[in-house]
Amino acid sequence: MWIFSSPRIVFGEDALNYLEELRGRRAFFVTDANMVRLGFVERVQKHLRAAGLESAVFADVEPEPSLQTVRRAAEQMAQYQPDWVIGLGGGSAMDAAKAAWLLYECPTADPAAINPMETYGLRQKARLVAIPTTSGTGSETTWATVLTDTDIGMKLSMGTHELTPDLAIVDPSLVTSMPPRITADTGMDVLTHAVEGYTSTMHNDFSDGLCLKATALVFQYLPRAYANGQDMEAREHMHNAASIAGLGFGNSMAALAHAMGHSLGAVFHVPHGRSVGLFLPYVIEFTANGGGTRYADIAKFLDLPAEDEAQGAASLVAAIRDLQRRIDFATSVQQLGVDREDFEAALPKLIANAEADNQLFFNARFANSEDLAKLFMCAYEGRSVDF
Ligand SMILES: [Zn+2]
Repeated sequence: MWIFSSPRIVFGEDALNYLEELRGRRAFFVTDANMVRLGFVERVQKHLRAAGLESAVFADVEPEPSLQTVRRAAEQMAQYQPDWVIGLGGGSAMDAAKAAWLLYECPTADPAAINPMETYGLRQKARLVAIPTTSGTGSETTWATVLTDTDIGMKLSMGTHELTPDLAIVDPSLVTSMPPRITADTGMDVLTHAVEGYTSTMHNDFSDGLCLKATALVFQYLPRAYANGQDMEAREHMHNAASIAGLGFGNSMAALAHAMGHSLGAVFHVPHGRSVGLFLPYVIEFTANGGGTRYADIAKFLDLPAEDEAQGAASLVAAIRDLQRRIDFATSVQQLGVDREDFEAALPKLIANAEADNQLFFNARFANSEDLAKLFMCAYEGRSVDF
């Protein structure tokens, strides 16, 4: 048995207007200072006021939100007693909103150990709205949350089906001001979700179509959204692609590129999409070298040469490299400016982090410690994976 989870998704132009349909008394925002500065909090509040809701704002979410931040947000939430929680921002804000909401509903829970085996009894006090302002993590449609334990320098990727937002508002007007660098990073996160969701060992009939469609949308629209942020057609399709890929991988699993990306991100503070997107082609090569994979299906869907698995995987890697070139995306860790000595010194920590990441176990070919060491070095130097 497996469960397909999805929020109600309101997408396209003027999707924010749907907030006026909410029924309740009080909303509590979990967001960051940038969202206040850009006027996005005020825009959402305007719709909430029209629905007769008051609101309070916690705007202290930092990139790679920490457990400590989540606890502070939950404390303020408990004082305000909202019946709606609004996660507004990129993945960090939405993930922090999920975890803080869980603590508000279930104060005895350990936010460092949120897991699908436990029942938290959410929705006794409030429901969750997720409003993404980047087109990337897909957190608005998934039950996952990634927090950082700053004490031990490690990302904790956790989740439970109960954390799937009740409502996702996917409004493209919120992403037009995203700078090109963030458009590229978050767009590569979408691609990594879609490819890993399709090829992980948890793939299924329900997630497959979503992953394929999201993959095609990224190839078609990411270069356009990167080249011209005001290209509304490209922005809208990329924003949809992020949520579709979220549904895809959220109902399957992400895999090795995410395990390695989380690891690198926590140690060298590389943005999520930049690190997972960098590892993706290396992971495809490694996985395809191990035999049966599903990369040829993806290649065929994209009209790339794919007479057999090996050719399909190679075509897909070449297409990803080409996409990366068009969006000025780093293709090796060295290009990110990480010093070789620092990287080699951190290698044991990078491997240990990746091995502690549950997404490692859903890769179609398992990577042991030795494989991980070699993979990290290939990705550092920009060498093809030949093992
Ligand atoms: Zn991701």
